[in-house]
Amino acid sequence: MNLSYWEYKTWLSNIDFTIVGSGIVGLNCAYYLSKKYPKAKILILEKGTLPQGASTKNAGFACFGSISEIVSDLKTHSQQEVLELVKSRWEGIQLLRATLGDSKIDFQQHGGHELFLKEHTKLFSDCSESLSTINNLLKPVYGEDAYYFHPNNFNFNKIQNQYITSRFEAQINTGAMMNALLSLVRNAGVNILNSITLTSFDDSLGSVKVCTNQFEFETRKLIIATNGFAAQLLNEDVKPARAQVLITKPIKNLQIKGTFHLDEGFYYFRNIDNRILLGGGRNLDFKTEETSEFGETQLIQNRLDSMLQEIILPNTDFEIERRWSGIMGIGNTKRPIVKQLSDNLICGVRLGGMGIAIGSLVGKKLADLA
Ligand SMILES: Cc1cc2nc3c(=O)[nH]c(=O)nc-3n(C[C@H](O)[C@H](O)[C@H](O)COP(=O)(O)OP(=O)(O)OC[C@H]3O[C@@H](n4cnc5c(N)ncnc54)[C@H](O)[C@@H]3O)c2cc1C
Repeated sequence: MNLSYWEYKTWLSNIDFTIVGSGIVGLNCAYYLSKKYPKAKILILEKGTLPQGASTKNAGFACFGSISEIVSDLKTHSQQEVLELVKSRWEGIQLLRATLGDSKIDFQQHGGHELFLKEHTKLFSDCSESLSTINNLLKPVYGEDAYYFHPNNFNFNKIQNQYITSRFEAQINTGAMMNALLSLVRNAGVNILNSITLTSFDDSLGSVKVCTNQFEFETRKLIIATNGFAAQLLNEDVKPARAQVLITKPIKNLQIKGTFHLDEGFYYFRNIDNRILLGGGRNLDFKTEETSEFGETQLIQNRLDSMLQEIILPNTDFEIERRWSGIMGIGNTKRPIVKQLSDNLICGVRLGGMGIAIGSLVGKKLADLA
């Protein structure tokens, strides 16, 4: 299809910044670019009819690292690196809250609990022993002790008697957050074109030539914020990782409240609208889940079902309303890749499982680089 003179002139000419991906990173980048350069023409290209990677699919934990995650990270990262990671998550959430406001994202700080399976006695004792060291390590971030022992007062089954809880962890409404970000960005004058896939680009010229599944155009700068799909466009250390989720129908008198991590973080669940949202299980089949194709597998969904039945809701009748998946971007370290790749090309990808926490900061850093 040939574009008309009007279409080309109005939407695709004199573009200053083109951002690929309308997830939390791309949208924050657009917002901060519009503040930095109020007169700039900013365009977002999004392959989905809605944002379609992880930002509209996730569990909505505003989390900074459960205790076993911090213990595990300290085996592969220095103390300083772990401190920096937690600090960036903390600052990222504060930025998200300041940008959109707590009521728009339904921010609720009920705490985040790590549950330890009955058979994980060693992990539980390792984490228990590290509790005060980790509280001290992270005091510069939180200003007080973050982790403490919590009785099993939600009556979960097959777990140790106590959780280790982070008092600062919170939950948000993912859909509301993304909707608010989309409005913010549109109100700032940014154009978002959906169902447009960037297929290739050439940044060897003074500007960048952009090719999509529908049309071609030029932009002064190109910013790639495609996270789990980045390997399709860039030669960077980022791999796709699919994460599967389910949600129950509303449950009468549901008492469970908060965000929960189970089995070293391989499973996570929370309350939302009198339901339980549960995700995880990638560890059952890492190879199959290293994909940028959406989809659910019997293996993982069956495990999620049995986890609900046996551990989370052992004495409660429930039905599953919906199952889905999202695509994350992961790599060898937990740090995101935020960098200038050439004069006119920048990327912010590999957000891992913490993109709600760090997505706003990564987007802002991209705008700072541009
Ligand atoms: C099931 C699940 C649960 C999660 N739970 C949490 C949680 O509780 N807390 C937390 O902090 N994080 C969580 N995460 C991680 C978090 O959602 C991500 O880290 C974050 O959303 C990444 O944001 P992003 O903007 O970088 O990427 P995305 O949201 O994936 O956005 C990238 C966008 O780029 C688009 N795109 C890709 N390729 C192209 C192309 N060629 N052309 C045009 N557009 C393209 C995609 O359609 C997508 O919309 C979870 C992730 C999943 C999948």
